[in-house]
This record gives sequence, C-alpha cells and structure tokens, in this order.
Amino acid sequence: MASYPKDVIRDLIDGKLPWQTTKPIMSDFKDERRFEIYLEILQERVPWKERILLPVGEHLYIVEKGAARIVKCDCGHEFGPYTENWKLEALVYVRDDERSLDEIYPGARKCDPGWMELREYYCPGCKAQLEVEAVTPGYPVVFDFVPDLEGFYRDWLKKPL
Ligand SMILES: [Zn+2]
Repeated sequence: MASYPKDVIRDLIDGKLPWQTTKPIMSDFKDERRFEIYLEILQERVPWKERILLPVGEHLYIVEKGAARIVKCDCGHEFGPYTENWKLEALVYVRDDERSLDEIYPGARKCDPGWMELREYYCPGCKAQLEVEAVTPGYPVVFDFVPDLEGFYRDWLKKPL
C-alpha cells in the first residue's frame, strides 16, 4: 500500500488528526514506508546527528554512534549501550511513603506503601520524566526490553542496519 504523506504521519504522531482520519489509518495495513517516514520525522526533531535506529520511549531512542548502538534522549544525553538498562543511569525519585504517594493517588485511591512503590525515572540532561514503574518494594529495576534490532531490520524492514 502506498505511503501516507509525511505531514499526515507527522500529525498522526502529534495527535492532531481527527478521529475520522486516524481510525482508518490505525485499522489498515501499515503503509510501505511508514517506519522510515516516522524515523525521518523523529530525526528532524532532535538537535543531534546520530542516526535513530529505533525509538524506545517518548524521549528515548536507540541511535548509531560510530560502531556503537546507544540509548539517547532527545535532549542529547547519552545513557550507554542499548543492551544495558538505561534506568540505571537515570535520575530516580521513589514514592514509597503515604505523603508522596498521596500526590499521585489522593485519598483512598493510593496504594499501601508496604506493598507498592512508584519509581519515577528522569533524564539527567533535561529532567524529562522518562518512565514510571509501580513495583513491590525491593523489586529489581525493571529492564523494559532489549529489542532484536538486527532481526527487526532484516526480517521486517528488509534493510541492512
Ligand atoms: Zn533528556
């Protein structure tokens, strides 16, 4: 299927399309160049030149830096190899008491801090909130995923990395 124009994909990313336009795009087969156009748009929005290989969050990307593949924030902060958990290099704020949990879940809706804590991860460079995880106290830092970059490019995009 032919690709949607870049400005349509840009508006789709930004949530600016009316639902009547968005719904058919979501329901249809992906157009041929969707991912490439998506990456082009993302690349145009960042102030650095390293090639984006895969977005991994609202502000985070796996990028090509020389021979390395690292996680990088849109502000330019670099977290290290994508095969390692970027959260270990992030700023973290842990909500593990009644008062701080009450800011998020006021009143009776808040969790019991004996059973759950919220960990908020922030970029050391721009202080953007990157991820929030709700876990039992003492649970290891969650490593969201390690994508199969080679397999994704080879088997899905049919392109070399
Ligand atoms: Zn940042």
